[in-house]
Amino acid sequence: MAPIPGSGLAKGLAVTLRTMTKKSVTAQYPDAQPDLPPRTRGVIGLFEENCTVCMLCARECPDWCIYIDSHKETVPAATPGGRERSRNVLDRFAIDFALCMYCGICIEVCPFDALFWSPEFEYAETDIRDLTHERDKLREWMWTVPAPPALDPGAEEPKELATARKAAEKLAAQQAQQAQQAPSATEPHADEQARAAEQPTRPQGDSKQQTDQPKPGQEGQE
Ligand code: SF4
Ligand code: SF4
Repeated sequence: MAPIPGSGLAKGLAVTLRTMTKKSVTAQYPDAQPDLPPRTRGVIGLFEENCTVCMLCARECPDWCIYIDSHKETVPAATPGGRERSRNVLDRFAIDFALCMYCGICIEVCPFDALFWSPEFEYAETDIRDLTHERDKLREWMWTVPAPPALDPGAEEPKELATARKAAEKLAAQQAQQAQQAPSATEPHADEQARAAEQPTRPQGDSKQQTDQPKPGQEGQE
C-alpha cells in the first residue's frame, strides 16, 4: 500500500508535540546542583585520628594509588616497671584520584573506620598532579561526608554508642552518689549560717554590736 502523502511529516510533528509537553530532565549544571544520593562515590575523606597506619588499604588498592609513609615511635611505660610500647606515626597519606577507579575497596577493608565516601565531586584540575590529594586535603573532605543513615528500628545498637552510653550512665551514677553525700558535708555550714543569722538579735556586751537594734518582727522572739 502506498504511503499517504504527508504522513511522515504528521508523525514527526506528533513526536515533537509529545516531547514539548513533557517535563525536561536536563539539569542546568552548575547553576542547578544535582541532588545526589548519600552513598554517592565522589571523593574519599580521611579521618586521620582513626588511622593506625596498618597499611591494609594501600595493600588492597587494585590501582596502587594510596601512598602511606610512617615511622615508629616509642611510647614510655604508663606504670613504673611496665613495658615500653611502639606505635606507628603517620607521615604521609595521599590518594591519587587520577588513578583511583572508585571501587571503594580501601574503605571496605579499613578496620578502623578511617576512610569515608563523600559525595563531593567538584575537584577537577587542569594539572593531573593536583589530583593527588595529600592528608590535609583528604581530611578537609571529611567535612563533606554525610551523616550515616538512621538504623532500622530493630537493629542492634552500635558498639561506639553502647560504650558512650554506659560511660555516661556511670558518670551520672557517680554524680548522683556525690550529690547524696554532699548535704551531710555541707550541714555544718548550714548550722553556721543559721547561727550567724541569729547573732544580731542577741544582746551583746560589745558596744559596736549594741548599736544593732533588733528588727521589729524579732522583738517578740527574745
Ligand atoms: S577506591 Fe579503589 S582504586 Fe580508589 S583508592 Fe580506594 S581501593 Fe584504590
Ligand atoms: S586501612 Fe585504615 S587504618 Fe589502615 S592505613 Fe588504611 S586508612 Fe589507615
